[in-house]
Amino acid sequence: MAELMPLEDALRIVLENVKPLSTEKVFLKDALGRFLAEDVVSDTDKPLFDNSAMDGYAVRFEDIKGASEDKPVELSLVGEYSAGTGENLSVEKGTAVKIFTGAPIPEGADTVVPVEFTQEKDGKVFIKREFKRGSNVRLRGEDVKEGEVILGRGHEIRGYEVGMLAFVNRAVVEVFRRPKVAVLSTGDELLEVGENQTRPSQIRSSNHHMLYSLVESAGGEAHQLGIAPDEPEKLLEVLKRCHDYDIFITTGGVSMGEKDYVQYLVKEVGVDVKFHKLRIKPAKPVLFGTYSENKLFFGLPGNPVSCAVAFDLLVYPAIRTMLGAKEVFKKKVSATLVKGFRRKDAKRREFARAKVWFEGGKFLCEPHPKQQSHMLTSLVESNAYMVVYEGVNEIKEGEEVEVVLF
Ligand code: AMP
Ligand code: MG
Repeated sequence: MAELMPLEDALRIVLENVKPLSTEKVFLKDALGRFLAEDVVSDTDKPLFDNSAMDGYAVRFEDIKGASEDKPVELSLVGEYSAGTGENLSVEKGTAVKIFTGAPIPEGADTVVPVEFTQEKDGKVFIKREFKRGSNVRLRGEDVKEGEVILGRGHEIRGYEVGMLAFVNRAVVEVFRRPKVAVLSTGDELLEVGENQTRPSQIRSSNHHMLYSLVESAGGEAHQLGIAPDEPEKLLEVLKRCHDYDIFITTGGVSMGEKDYVQYLVKEVGVDVKFHKLRIKPAKPVLFGTYSENKLFFGLPGNPVSCAVAFDLLVYPAIRTMLGAKEVFKKKVSATLVKGFRRKDAKRREFARAKVWFEGGKFLCEPHPKQQSHMLTSLVESNAYMVVYEGVNEIKEGEEVEVVLF
């Protein structure tokens, strides 16, 4: 049997064969989760004018010097400025304007005294504390200057960035296109959700639904191709559709079984196979190839857990790269093992499903008791992969482990 490929080599090959997709313009409401393909500049200074950071009174600093609880300074009120005001008042010596957060600082004023340190009576306001010049005034341009790049190409658009884009008056932004990703389950035994079981040997297919959702949550545009039987002609018909997509993912039929046709058929549809077996556990049989400029084929294993692990380790970074992300891997942290872990065979790098949580100032990790690749419970009851490196047979309680969060 051919040598199993180390994960690093596989990742290198995948990443060498993938790049960000072309770009497109999207409306702001559709920009979430995308990556900018342009530098975005501010349309104006932010703030656009000096304004109040507090509800209170806009005053001249010179007037309130030395004000205290015992010796309040008395100022006459000349009016009121609320946010968005159309008023045009000015603060002369000995006067004040009542002001609300966000309202422009009136001509002549340079300082805002918060309402808590004042008392208003009969058209006058008593200032009971001194404030430094410029207190509670937000200055024009102190956050951003007009024309300044506020979000660079490659920046991820999260909710905050959507807010920022709106703030600089952008209704449309240029982002990298989402990859079109087809998902297909293969296997004669597979039943669709809702389909009647007619033979005891049939099993409910989880993988094409799982993959569809994993693709969407990674930011890809998933396309559901359903289930194909282990029949070369029919399978070939579906595989031929790979040219319509940026990524084509199959699950099942990629191992050593006689009916595992995917590895042969992909060649007929033009896939240049780059690797087929990895030195990882689960998910040893993973086929990867390219089939034209920046188009990727992944043949993932049929066991649901293997399928998910292979997706997270290899397909996820490919999708993220196409989307224009700079950080393409899932987050890793280091955690303390709370329960010893042993294994007999240490040849492969293992991604043990585990629970990771934060307690007492550090991350703790407990591997799931069920580690077999057909047991989906190990995924739904976990939130991380604990990485067990090649050559490691045992990790003791209290030792640090590397965990990949999912
Ligand atoms: P295979 O890789 O086709 O040999 O399948 C390995 C195991 O995964 C077998 O037990 C299959 O029945 C199971 N399997 C394959 N495809 C799926 C699927 N789409 N959903 C759930 N289990 C599957
Ligand atoms: Mg099969």
